[in-house]
Amino acid sequence: MLKNFVVTLGLLLAADLAQAAKTCTLQIEGNDLMRYNVAEMKVAADCTEVEVVLKHVGKLPVQTMGHNWVLTKTAEFMAVANAGVAAGLAKDHIPPGDARVIAHTKMIGGGQSTSVKFPTSKLTKGSDYTFFCSFPGHYGLMKGKFILQ
Ligand code: ZN
Repeated sequence: MLKNFVVTLGLLLAADLAQAAKTCTLQIEGNDLMRYNVAEMKVAADCTEVEVVLKHVGKLPVQTMGHNWVLTKTAEFMAVANAGVAAGLAKDHIPPGDARVIAHTKMIGGGQSTSVKFPTSKLTKGSDYTFFCSFPGHYGLMKGKFILQ
């Protein structure tokens, strides 16, 4: 009986730990036609951490067709995108130290991949978030909704 109890307790603890940390991976692609392959990304409610993997499936170099993945509140994305233009390619077109940027990858060119991880504690359920590419001129086509379920 005691042994069963200990085993059960152990399983319960393991289940708690599994719930305490769950990384959910989302894949997204960018191409040479200045497009992502998805317009919406959803994170399940039980995820504690999000990993976004960005793959550039094109062939053009980062200087001409660079892509990254940037997450902000929808209300702030245009301002951050414009600030990113001024930041320059060496800074991945991310305004340095900008608290409005919730998460971002580096800027990549054709054939490359990159990823970023961030805790879902940075997100609020029901808030409106937008992901986009901050390469100059790209955010008009390369953007989408990011939803915490
Ligand atoms: Zn881009």
